[in-house]
Amino acid sequence: MNQELTEVTRLINDGALFVINHSGGKDSQAMMIELLKIVPKKQLLVIHATLGEVEWEGALEHAKFQAEQAGVPFIVAEAVKTLIDMVEHRFSVRPDAPSWPSASNRQCTSDLKRGPIEREVRRYMKANGFTKVANCMGLRAAESHGRAKLAVWKRNERNSIAGRDWYDWLPIHGLSTAEVFALIAAAGQQPHWAYAAGNERLSCVFCIMASGRDLANGAKHNPVLFKKYVELEQRTGYTMHMSRKSLVELVSYASNDAVPGYETEPCDLLAASKPAPLRQSMPPLADRWERFSGWAHSFPRTS
Ligand code: SF4
Repeated sequence: MNQELTEVTRLINDGALFVINHSGGKDSQAMMIELLKIVPKKQLLVIHATLGEVEWEGALEHAKFQAEQAGVPFIVAEAVKTLIDMVEHRFSVRPDAPSWPSASNRQCTSDLKRGPIEREVRRYMKANGFTKVANCMGLRAAESHGRAKLAVWKRNERNSIAGRDWYDWLPIHGLSTAEVFALIAAAGQQPHWAYAAGNERLSCVFCIMASGRDLANGAKHNPVLFKKYVELEQRTGYTMHMSRKSLVELVSYASNDAVPGYETEPCDLLAASKPAPLRQSMPPLADRWERFSGWAHSFPRTS
């Protein structure tokens, strides 16, 4: 943990840019609340990768509002295609192969989120004279086995070149879902409305790894988009969800008490056939920072 905070201290003192990847979801929001406590605003940037019509309504606006309230620059990263375009294209060139992205080949994440965000970060750094960056993401260990194994702090070799040092950082990796909501409430903020409507996660309305509950909630609040996905599943002959069950089937299971409990289990955990990982016992970033600052030699001042 101290290596993580030692590196963070070094980057803050070096005037590095800290990029907040903000989906509009609760984890991004809590991460931003924590980062504002330790990183000077002039070194912060909020980026939202827009997913267009497949994204929950208001996600972009929610991220933008938090950035504006904090006085932090906000930019939108836009992909040249949408998830629907990606599926249509794949079906047109390879009708014999699955048309949808999968958990093992998440082309949707790389092409619609990671790629556009990295492009905007490079542009922003160049335009504003930054040579070091910590790319901050709100992924948490408690979400899935795969995420539990991720490094909290890592140099990103692919994006580091002469004159540009790039690090990937997961500032709230050790927090539970309850702690995330508690941080948001303690800051006097509200999470995106979809959580109050029953969602567990927020990003694409119909994610390839979503829980049945989120899919059912997505269908309830986005009937036109639901119809579009169902039509696309039927036309391509492939299911979009990693469980390989059709969207209609998943939504009806989750809305039906005949399959108790199904709707509350995140599908990535189900598919991995492993127990949910134990949450790392780790206090929020600001608390760790305060403790760390008690013995570190030099500390940046936030403004
Ligand atoms: S939210 Fe799900 S479907 Fe959407 S880009 Fe991410 S992994 Fe893909």
